Amino acid sequence: MNESSPERTLVITKSMTVGDVAQKLGSPVGDVILYLLRQGIVCNKNKVLPENLIKELARHYGVNFELKIEERSSDETVAKTEVGDHEGRAPIVVVIGHVDHGKTSLLDYIRKTRVAQREKGGITQHLGAYKVSSNNGDVVFLDTPGHEAFMLMRARGVKVADIAVLVVAADDGIMPQTVEAIKHAREAKVPLIVAINKIDKVDSKRIQEVKNQFSRHGVIFEEVGGDVMCIPLSAKTGVGVDKLIETLPVFGALLELKARTTGNGIGYILESKIEKGRGAVATVILQHGELKIGDYIIAGGVTGRVNAMVNAFGVAVNRVGPADPVLVAGFDDLAPVGDVIKVISLAEYKNLRFGKGQRIVNDTQASETREDVPNILLKVDTNSSKEAIVVAMEKLSKQEQQDINIIQVGIGAITESDVLFASNTQAIIYGFCVKPEIHVQAFAKKLGVQIKSFFVIYHLLDDLKEIVEKMRKPQMVEKKIGEAIVRKVFNIKGQIIAGCYVKTGRVVRGNKVSIWRDGLKIGEGVIQTLQREKRAIKEAAAGFECGFIVDGFSDFAENDRIECLSEEVVGAKS
Ligand code: GDP
Repeated sequence: MNESSPERTLVITKSMTVGDVAQKLGSPVGDVILYLLRQGIVCNKNKVLPENLIKELARHYGVNFELKIEERSSDETVAKTEVGDHEGRAPIVVVIGHVDHGKTSLLDYIRKTRVAQREKGGITQHLGAYKVSSNNGDVVFLDTPGHEAFMLMRARGVKVADIAVLVVAADDGIMPQTVEAIKHAREAKVPLIVAINKIDKVDSKRIQEVKNQFSRHGVIFEEVGGDVMCIPLSAKTGVGVDKLIETLPVFGALLELKARTTGNGIGYILESKIEKGRGAVATVILQHGELKIGDYIIAGGVTGRVNAMVNAFGVAVNRVGPADPVLVAGFDDLAPVGDVIKVISLAEYKNLRFGKGQRIVNDTQASETREDVPNILLKVDTNSSKEAIVVAMEKLSKQEQQDINIIQVGIGAITESDVLFASNTQAIIYGFCVKPEIHVQAFAKKLGVQIKSFFVIYHLLDDLKEIVEKMRKPQMVEKKIGEAIVRKVFNIKGQIIAGCYVKTGRVVRGNKVSIWRDGLKIGEGVIQTLQREKRAIKEAAAGFECGFIVDGFSDFAENDRIECLSEEVVGAKS
């Protein structure tokens, strides 16, 4: 597998999925998934792989690689040509800057004073983004500094943030990561607002010095005729923070940020994780349209059906519109951070989810369900459980000499979507340390899908072994039950009768025989008639003489050895 084959070259493009890479490597997708699993990377065939992993896979498979930067196709980015009713929407803001310059402090200060306070001191849940109101309108902050999603989106040529607030500490001034951040924002074509932080630590002369440093990096502030706003503030005392918050919606309005407010939602995945009891969830922020409970969705190849949405205050909502961060549950797998999420039709969902090529592991031949083997959909609690169980199942499959078709492996609770998938693929759902909720159990019952939950690996394997044994096809094995020697050959009205002496065991009418001469098998057939002294008998035992006609063979000679066989069933379990 991993022998060097220098003539093959894998052209790596951004946003290649596991399936794409496997296809290019000419390897079954199950092998690639298993390899990644062994490296501790959980994925399915639709997962978009980062460049370094694609390179590692290419190395593992002994294939040369060449990097080719590919722009995302327009339907994967949020289209600017969206049609429909448009309304102004809140700007989405990312905070960037050098380490220790106060990005986290600024975001914390705003959250504490503007978000929690609004909800009577209620604790907000971390969504990766929060919305703040001001006299001039709302602002959405991505609340992780230098947000991962922002970086990933930059790499993918899509843009979640409308404005970047560049934080620079007044005492330190411009530092290497400040310069980097300016570069990132420019490349992403995201307009900047500079926040000179920690002004409680310095005098006004120092603030001016820092402002002057910016001009050397091509950032010209409004006060000297440029187009970049600069707001001195302190994340510690709060001075200037209000001004920043009041300025951002105005700045957003200048950018003419418009969103379609109705119709299918399209936006971005900000964060993604597995939550106990909820399965794969993600923070979503829409750019256009709406997202409702029950909507079918896709994000970077990961499908789902929205079954719950929770806002930043932990309140369940049925619908969200643009620029309103929300936690969405119902993904079939971990949604890729930074990817576009969009609402799709049920038909599209079914096609993506249950169409060809959806077998995730052991995808060695066809992509469909197999009738002769157990089809398993496995849901587990953690990545390490997943690896342990998949490996143990492979071992069991080898031991029992019976294929086990693991249709899909996922982390998280057993969902209705799993049940639907299992029903479509005639799979049994095995849960390890995860249990279905009552409505999922009821759904499974309705569709006749078996769900089996275990908390001890060996119990799960014992159960699977029983199923394997039950399903194993009974094998017919031929066993010798007697041997006879031809003493004389008779030809009666054209019918050849072998007159024999039964040497061992017994010879039985209707059984198969093989005929041997000089140590070689010369033919075989079935005993059609068996006689002793002109009487038809059912069988002749050792020590007796008999004559028989064999259907399928007549070329007997004296001293031929005849083995009488019986077919026995092995491997079947009642
Ligand atoms: P980050 O790495 O950019 O997120 O920086 P942090 O928010 O973690 O801040 C780094 C340090 O600077 C912390 O010790 C903060 O308490 C301190 N800090 C942040 N903002 C201010 C400020 O406005 N004034 C003062 N005096 N200290 C600040």
